[in-house]
Amino acid sequence: MLQQFYPQVPHRYRYELNKDMQLAAAHFIPHPDAGVCARTHGHTYFINVTVAGDDLDGSGFLVNFKELKEAVHGRWDHTLLNDDVESFDGMDPDRFPTTEVVARVVWERIQRLLDQKPNRPRCLQVVVRETPTSYVVFRPREGVDLP
Ligand SMILES: [Zn+2]
Repeated sequence: MLQQFYPQVPHRYRYELNKDMQLAAAHFIPHPDAGVCARTHGHTYFINVTVAGDDLDGSGFLVNFKELKEAVHGRWDHTLLNDDVESFDGMDPDRFPTTEVVARVVWERIQRLLDQKPNRPRCLQVVVRETPTSYVVFRPREGVDLP
């Protein structure tokens, strides 16, 4: 299936894991240039997160798949994304729940989770597919998003 193909991230870490998630959510883009997307409507989002690192934790995990799912699916499945004002602020275009911003905010949530781990894994890529024909890739930049 088309949704199964994801771009690869070049890196030199020993381990890489990928977690696929699917979530149903509604959103709207509060801007006149958004056209019909300014109206509330829904998507089935397909999300893939890539996590990498050199070391495993005490359980032999880079990170538990379940924790990744809880951080994203657990927060937004069957919600109106715009209601999550901490993540998607209706006044700030950099915080409108566009596919681009959803991808970046997913990365922020995942990396915040990973920052608490003693083995310090890193989220290298987030892919958010909003429709069968449209997806966005977010990759953090060293020195900008990551130390
Ligand atoms: Zn939409």
